[in-house]
Amino acid sequence: MSEFDFDLFVIGAGSGGVRASRMAAASGMRVAVAEDRYMGGTCVNVGCVPKKLFVYASEYREAFEDARGFGWLGQEVAGFDWPTLRDNNAREITRLNGIYRNLLTSAGVTVIDGRATVEDRQKVKVGDQIYSAERILIATGGWPYVPEFPGSEFAITSNEVFSLQEFPKRVMVVGGGYIAVEFAGIFAGLGAETHLSYRKDLFLRGFDREVRTFTRDEMIKKQINLHFNHQVSAIEKQPDGSLLVHSEEGGTREVDLVLYATGRRANTRGLGLEKLGVVLHKDGTIGVDDNFRSSVQSIFALGDVTGGPELTPVALAEAMALVKHWQTGKTAEIDYNNIPTAVFCQPNIGTVGLTEEEARQAGIPVVIYKADFRAMRHTIGGRDERTLMKLIVNGSNDKVVGAHMVGPEAGEIIQGIAIAIKAGATKAVFDQTIGIHPTAAEEFVTMR
Ligand code: FAD
Ligand code: NDP
Repeated sequence: MSEFDFDLFVIGAGSGGVRASRMAAASGMRVAVAEDRYMGGTCVNVGCVPKKLFVYASEYREAFEDARGFGWLGQEVAGFDWPTLRDNNAREITRLNGIYRNLLTSAGVTVIDGRATVEDRQKVKVGDQIYSAERILIATGGWPYVPEFPGSEFAITSNEVFSLQEFPKRVMVVGGGYIAVEFAGIFAGLGAETHLSYRKDLFLRGFDREVRTFTRDEMIKKQINLHFNHQVSAIEKQPDGSLLVHSEEGGTREVDLVLYATGRRANTRGLGLEKLGVVLHKDGTIGVDDNFRSSVQSIFALGDVTGGPELTPVALAEAMALVKHWQTGKTAEIDYNNIPTAVFCQPNIGTVGLTEEEARQAGIPVVIYKADFRAMRHTIGGRDERTLMKLIVNGSNDKVVGAHMVGPEAGEIIQGIAIAIKAGATKAVFDQTIGIHPTAAEEFVTMR
């Protein structure tokens, strides 16, 4: 008999926690997982999943307009009904919550509902119950961060946006990262007058500069009002519920909703880690070694709470690498290079590998291949939208070191290209590959 209640106690049933719990249980460990909000975590409840459903919803308006050019005349749609989307989304999430709970229990994991704190190096408390565990895994993810300023309490975050009582007529989205750009597209597509406020001169810092300017131009075409070099200084609520957004630059704008998307902070506050000597970084994320072990022998952490790339597939990969490490004793195998990612704005951005700027900075003799075109669908559909594709090639060995796309289904296309880049494909291999015609993706093998 073990001296512990469990071999592993996982805190947080999000992307990383669920995967780690299931894999560990499948490998024979006695596992418990505590979750205080929602099964499946951020991604399932207030992240990737509802976001993508809302993106789909936002794309119909243009699709209905395009349809006329293809002969679908006189098809009038009554209009967009927010409660239908909101409630159908909520039902789907509830269904997924059940699936996640089932996945855990059928794998033999003990699911404990409630907020957990770490009581001791091998003890976790949920409610008034204390559980002992040989290992504790912190997979508590992150939480939206809103800077403090007068009226900041009137702003909402991505946590609230999916369940709004009413659909706003005028929206200000603040931030220039993934969430801000995606939600500007969602609100505009669903018919709101949409403003995006970003503090510097061009959003999507870290992405290829040409991708950023191309996306900016496409968003402007879709009537999204971009306010760069714009910093919100105060929000004032008016008696009718509308909001006055004041900026440091002196302007004021009246809107019905302000959505802050200014990054996320690690969920480590109040967990009890500091008193045990778990070393946290300045931003609150947990410091871990290559095997996801914190500065305390029995306490591990993975996913958003460790401050790596905040992406679901990364949390999943870390969970699998950690359990494999426990099984084999070998160092966890995980490669953070060439992680593909997509921003689901309109059109989508898909990217993998180095940007042109990063490649040049690394001293790589860069050769650039580019295609900038109007997708076939838009020729007779009539939409004024363009697609950008770009390959960054290392001229010294012909290796493709980066691929970037702004266009429909960019995420779907870049996923395949990411495999080629991971495999070390050269531009010659891309050139030897026969295209699939007619597609946009074939441009990646026909650029000369
Ligand atoms: P989480 O999924 O956040 O899970 C942490 C869990 O721990 C939560 O369920 C929380 O309730 C629970 N918890 C916290 N503290 C405690 C406690 N003390 N006791 C018990 N339980 C606790 N990523 C993508 O790859 N693609 C996307 O398209 C994408 N879209 C996103 C859109 C939005 C709006 C947001 C906010 C994020 C998006 N992400 C996306 C990021 C992705 O959701 C996260 O990277 C991922 O969920 C991280 O997984 P995790 O397991 O680290 O944490
Ligand atoms: P990001 O870190 O991507 O972007 C935060 C943005 O807010 C930046 O533009 C930043 O500006 C700005 N900002 C930060 N602090 C302030 C401030 N005090 N005042 C004004 N602006 C500020 O965070 P998000 O919230 O957009 O998303 C969190 C993470 O979730 C993402 O990084 C991503 O990893 C993940 N995610 C992934 C998605 C996907 O895969 N499709 C979708 C959504 C989220 P600056 O650039 O100047 O620092």
